[in-house]
Formats: sequence, C-alpha cells, structure tokens
Amino acid sequence: MSESTLRIGLVLPDVMGTYGDGGNALVLRQRLRMRGYDAEIIDITLADPVPDSFDIYTLGGAEDSAQRLATRHLQKYPGLQQAAAKGAPVLAICAAIQVLGNWYETSAGEKVDGVSLFDVTTSPQKVRAIGEVTTTPLVPGLKAPLTGFENHRGGTTLGADAAPLARVTRGVGNGVGDSTEGVVQGSVFGTYLHGPALARNPELADLLIAKALGIPATDLSPLDLPEVDRLRKERLRA
Ligand code: GLN
Repeated sequence: MSESTLRIGLVLPDVMGTYGDGGNALVLRQRLRMRGYDAEIIDITLADPVPDSFDIYTLGGAEDSAQRLATRHLQKYPGLQQAAAKGAPVLAICAAIQVLGNWYETSAGEKVDGVSLFDVTTSPQKVRAIGEVTTTPLVPGLKAPLTGFENHRGGTTLGADAAPLARVTRGVGNGVGDSTEGVVQGSVFGTYLHGPALARNPELADLLIAKALGIPATDLSPLDLPEVDRLRKERLRA
C-alpha cells in the first residue's frame, strides 16, 4: 500500500454486516479505482483497535446482541469518533445508526449507551419495519431517490444536532411518525437502507468519496455504468 492509497475502514464486519452491508466498502473501492485512485479495504474486527487515520469508514447492520458487542468495542477504542471529529466520512447502516447514537433500547428492553456520534435515540416499536423503502433526499448534492430494503424493530428519534438524510415516500424509515429516513451529522451519514445501500444509490457513494478526497462531488469524473442505472431503475419500480 503506497502513501497515497485511500484506506476504507470496514468497521466490525465480524459482528455488523447483515444483508451484505460489507458491499458498501466494495462499491467505494471500485468507484475510486475506476477513477484512477488507489484504494484498499481494511477490516477492523473485534480483535483490533479502531484506527483514527483512515479516509472513509463504513459499518453494517446487526442483530441486537451483535450490536451490543460492537458498541462496547467502539467505546473502548474511540478511533472512529476521533476520525469523525477530523471530518472523515462515515456511513452507518441500520443497527449502526443506533450504535452511533446517544442510546438505544433493545427489543428485550435493555437500554444501552451508544457512542454519541449522532444526536439520536432508538426505542423498539410495536411492529417490525420490513420491506422496500423509497425516499427523497434532503441533503445538498443528492438528487435521485434513495432506495433500499429495511428490516428493523428500532425507531429512531432525531435530536437537535442531527438532520434527516431523506423523506420517506414508501416504507417506514426512522419509524417514529415524522416520515424521516436516516441521519446526517457533520461527515457522518446513517441510513436504514440495506441493499447494499451504495450499490443501489451511487450518488451517496460519490458524496462520501468526494468528502474523503476533499473535493466537491461535481469534480468527480462521471462513471458510465449502465448496469448500476438499470439496478436503480428496477428497484424504483419494484
Ligand atoms: N437490531 C436492530 C433493530 O432491529 C437493527 C437491525 C438491523 O440492523 N437490520 O432495530
């Protein structure tokens, strides 16, 4: 790995990676490489401390017991929090929103302190949210509808420092009755969308890449990928 290699940290894939969320790291690496950047994925497992020097981080969803293990690890090794404080882009899927929040309550009623990268709290809802989701993004630079598959019992309430990623047009999203989906706080993005999310939503992938490179997303060379467009359109119709 050379000094200019962009390092993508796949955070705790051994406990957080429901529905192939590790694919988000593959999409980031591929879109960087296709544009001529050197990029590598580095797994950060429960056996490793969390480095604070990587260029992008991504975390997947998980079952309640696995997400508790992840929470403890991120509290013990606060590298992710330090990287985010320096402006490194982070993508958190589903359970990872809850872990990065102030606290979450599991389905069994246990309240667990999170790592407070997001000013959000999560409590179990009566009905599990399962199915396809379509949303209208609320973040500058994102235009196309964001789509994905959700499967979560937790409903997430946003505090004053957290903004929603999108507004739900189909499905549940954050699930507390305000029709919001996902969270944005500084350079940290969260979404309930599995997919993997970045395979289905390439604009979001490029937004994270541009932040990692420190350039506007409009400066990234366009990628002509008909199969990505086809997947996106297919999911919008599904
Ligand atoms: N365990 C969490 C919930 O049910 C998250 C599930 C997930 O990541 N798919 O809310």
